[in-house]
Amino acid sequence: MDCIFCKIANGEIPATKVYEDDTVVAFNDLEPQAPTHILVIPKAHISSAAEITEENSAVISHIFEVIAKLSKDLDMTNGFRVVNNCGDWAGQTVKHIHFHVMSGRKFTWPAG
Ligand code: 5GP
Ligand code: ZN
Repeated sequence: MDCIFCKIANGEIPATKVYEDDTVVAFNDLEPQAPTHILVIPKAHISSAAEITEENSAVISHIFEVIAKLSKDLDMTNGFRVVNNCGDWAGQTVKHIHFHVMSGRKFTWPAG
């Protein structure tokens, strides 16, 4: 399968990784939308949030544990935003589930 985030997860494509363990990797977004902009992904391919099931959801809760840890390690004391784009209308361009973690500036709500 030709998936860029699978290739980042297995090291075929380089990325600036800020966290990695057996099931999850976090790396800097190539086109940051905030001073801190990290993508957190499962190493196993799940195409989107619409494909989360009882069988594969453990890694999703682990991703949120990793996000909480990163928020402390990377000093996101003033807050941070977690975004998941699911499907074309939401602007999902990479079909491997990923959570954007953005910090270092104020965000508006609702998002456009
Ligand atoms: P989406 O639009 O699917 O929610 O987000 C995809 C994100 O992946 C975008 O923010 C884009 O900048 C980032 N991205 C796409 N290709 C690469 C890549 O090869 N390396 C890194 N580090 N980020 C990428
Ligand atoms: Zn993938």
